[in-house]
Parts: sequence; C-alpha cells; structure tokens
Amino acid sequence: EQTVTGGRVQDHRAELADLDDDFLAGSGGDSPVDIDVLYSGINYKDGLALAGKPGVARTSPLVPGIDLVGEVRTSADARFSPGDAVVLTGGGIGESAHGGLAQRARVSAEYLVKLPEGLTPGRAAAIGTAGFTAMLSVLALERGGVQTDAGRVVVTGSAGGVGSVAIAVLAKLGFEVTAVTGRADTQGDYLHRLGATELLDRQEFAETGAPLQKRRWAGGVDSVGSATLANVLAQTDDGGTVTSCGLAQGHDLPTTVMPFILRGVTLAGINSVTAPRALREEAWARLAGDLPVELLDEMTQEIALGEVFAQAEKILAGQVRGRTVVNLAS
Ligand code: NAP
Repeated sequence: EQTVTGGRVQDHRAELADLDDDFLAGSGGDSPVDIDVLYSGINYKDGLALAGKPGVARTSPLVPGIDLVGEVRTSADARFSPGDAVVLTGGGIGESAHGGLAQRARVSAEYLVKLPEGLTPGRAAAIGTAGFTAMLSVLALERGGVQTDAGRVVVTGSAGGVGSVAIAVLAKLGFEVTAVTGRADTQGDYLHRLGATELLDRQEFAETGAPLQKRRWAGGVDSVGSATLANVLAQTDDGGTVTSCGLAQGHDLPTTVMPFILRGVTLAGINSVTAPRALREEAWARLAGDLPVELLDEMTQEIALGEVFAQAEKILAGQVRGRTVVNLAS
C-alpha cells in the first residue's frame, strides 16, 4: 500500500512508502475504527507537514493528512458499523495520530462523523477541514446575529480553501460578500462566480491602520490574521462579528480594544480540530444543504498520492486555488 510517512517535529522529511497494517497498531485508542480511506485532502497544515516544516507533525513516524473520508471496515465503537461512509477532519490526525494520506486508517471514533445524506465521499473530502472551518465561521456569524440585511460581509484569504467555501456559502445564504485577495488578476472571475460581488486587493489591509476606521462590514470571516484582521475589526459596524481561524499573513494581531468597547464588535475564535460532535454534525448537515455542489466542484482539483509533495509546495507558496482532494484509489 502506498503511504506517506512524515517524521519528527524538527528536521523531518516526508516520503512515499509501502507499509502494512501493523504500522497502525495501537492507533485509535481503546475503541478504534478501521477505515478504507477513499479520499484525503491538502490543507495548509498538510502543506507544512509534507514540506518538512515544523509545527504540525507532533510525533514520528507519522502518516500525515488532517482529513479523511472513507468506509468503515471494522469498528470497536458501537456508534459505527462496517460499510458506514464517514468523514474525519482534525481531531489530531495528521498531527499527533496517523492521518488520511494512506489507503488505510485506524482512528478514534471521538471526532468521526457519518456522511450526511446526499454528500458523496469525493465532495466531502473536497470540503475537508477548510470547508468545515468555513461553515463553523458562518455558524459563528449567525450566532453573533449577523443578518443578511445588515450590510456587507468581508472574507479574507478569499481564493484559498477556507475563503472559497465561505464565499460560496455566504452568497447562497443571501449575504453581499466582499472578497479580499492578492490574486484579483487571475482569480477575479472565479471569486465572482463563487458569489462575491466586490473584490478588494489584500494590500489595502496589509499594514496596521487606525484603531477605528470607516464602518464597512456587518461581519467578517478571516483566515489571514495579523494586520488584515486588525483592519477588518477596525472597519466592522456596531454589533458586528468577525471570525478568526487562520494566520496566512501572521499570528500577531496588532489591534486595540476600540472596536470592542466603542462598537461592540465580537471577535469569534474558530477551532475546527476539536470541535465537539454536536457542532460537527450541525456543520456537516449545513454544508450538505448550503454549499452549491457546482461551486464546490469548480473550486476542487483532484490529485493522486504521488502528487502531494508538489501540491504542498504550491499551497505554501499561496498558489493553490480552493481545495485539493487526494484520491487514494487512483
Ligand atoms: P490556503 O488554501 O492556503 O488559503 C490561504 C489564503 O490566504 C491564500 O489563498 C491567500 O488568498 C491568502 N494569503 C496567503 N498569504 C497571505 C498573506 N501573506 N497575506 C494575506 N493573505 C494571504 O489555506 P486554507 O486551508 O484556506 O487555510 C487558511 C488559514 O486558516 C491557514 O492559516 C490555516 O492554517 C488556517 N486554518 C485554521 C483552521 C482552524 O481550525 N482554526 C482550520 C482550517 C484552516 P488570496 O490568494 O486570495 O490572497
């Protein structure tokens, strides 16, 4: 079987290797679920692990891949049965436990979710951690009371995986979406097709600005962090909510308390890795209904396992558009 193995937290390298099932012995805790993996994906974190960068792989040797979609072979957990179609995003796979970039996986049932009705395995993998995180962000905007008639919603990192899914879902729900991108020249048409009605250059957001700026947004979905998130907060209207899930620009946040104490803005943190089961099931059910499949297909490219190293370099260089699915059967 083809498997990609990663390495130590520092100075590791990833390689393609043939392994047998014994390699997975001890994985999945006390009640493991064995899965025939059909698809995995390449997220930003997978790019880091595959490129040998530190911060994602926390054990060695490790099968990378923070997402997997497949069919249950055997289950020691009563909630799953052979033949169930399942998806697992995060939950520590591809970081501290063996992940999805292999044809077999043995995982804990804790974060495993049955595929919702109507979603194919390939499309579930296309959604993956990035799309799941985008939906968690949309749910946080809704819980923050952001309404479609309250004004525009801004999405940063918009041609990336989180951003693309966020735009498609928000537009479907009836929001007027502004996309912030560094690739308007090559991805402008794509972002419009997803549903963005305004595009802004990310350079406008790249430097720290005034603590309070002209009110522009009823809400925002940010996967970029740093000065970009600080500027979005400073431009958010009274009572608005902005979500933070990523650090494509940086992990710093050069903001002040002004948007919070003078405009009642809420900054909602998003962590997809350990999202509890009820929230996972809610998000997947909403993804099955609120993400137009033709747009999901448009934002997705499929690759074979042997192509993951080149794709890792591309995602780290900011050259990947939307989502990348790895077909483990190919
Ligand atoms: P991705 O596909 O690589 O997308 C990131 C996008 O950010 C890029 O496409 C680019 O969009 C923009 N970008 C890149 N470098 C930038 C810079 N220096 N300044 C401003 N914008 C920049 O990655 P992803 O899978 O969507 O993930 C996005 C971020 O969210 C990553 O940091 C990831 O680790 C994080 N994340 C967190 C969670 C969580 O649970 N908290 C879950 C998923 C992802 P444009 O080309 O349009 O400018």
